[in-house]
Amino acid sequence: MNHTYDLELSDVVKDFGGTRVVDRLNISIEKGEFISLLGPSGCGKSTTLMMIAGFEGLSDGQVKVRGNRIDHLLPERRNIGIVFQAYALFPHMSVRQNVEYGLKMRKVPAAERKSRAGKLLDLVHMTAFSDRYPRQLSGGQQQRVALARALVTEPSILLLDEPFSALDRQLREDLQREVRALQRSLGITTIFVTHDQDEALLMSDRIAVMNRGKVEQCAAPQNLYKSPATEFVARFIGRGT
Ligand code: ADP
Ligand code: MG
Repeated sequence: MNHTYDLELSDVVKDFGGTRVVDRLNISIEKGEFISLLGPSGCGKSTTLMMIAGFEGLSDGQVKVRGNRIDHLLPERRNIGIVFQAYALFPHMSVRQNVEYGLKMRKVPAAERKSRAGKLLDLVHMTAFSDRYPRQLSGGQQQRVALARALVTEPSILLLDEPFSALDRQLREDLQREVRALQRSLGITTIFVTHDQDEALLMSDRIAVMNRGKVEQCAAPQNLYKSPATEFVARFIGRGT
């Protein structure tokens, strides 16, 4: 019998015009795993997340969640949470309204919306800021709210696209720890996109090193470090910051 993964990309391809930016990508992820897509700018990381979330169509291949294809579904039917690099919040809505938004779309009654948003704001330590607006928050606080908003609908999969890249180093380190702890406690299957090898090595169960739309190697951090499969992986992982 075939093993059923929580999330499985099979021969996923994306062409923009005549250019292939994602080239037969294969990644299989177990329930609760934290996987990083690591690679230089332009290698196809964000495009891969957009296809999983449903904001971009596939040119070829399949995306499966627990064995069922989802690549034909509208984004709102996929139950996937996503946090982008920056500017992710609705500026005209308060913190609480931002977090409740996904529940409102799903027609969850007001009382339940309030209690679920309240729980998530607690989890990301933002309860005291519930009535503020995004412009009144620091970058780190905005990303905490974005995380709460992504998780409030209890998605089965979480996608994080360079969520800390706009933050200064201390804040980034705090949030790396917090996000990993929260992800573990919820047991949520997560793909984390970064071009920062130290961040990927620190946070991930496994890392898929990408180059020009392909996965060069997918392995646990210590294995990538000890036994890089290609010259590219050796250079990219060993380079330091
Ligand atoms: P990464 O996130 O790894 O930096 P992206 O997935 O954003 O890379 O982009 C991969 C390549 O696809 C880049 O060359 C980028 O210019 C191109 N690309 C991304 N989105 C589009 C689009 N909507 N139309 C045309 N080209 C795109
Ligand atoms: Mg990107």
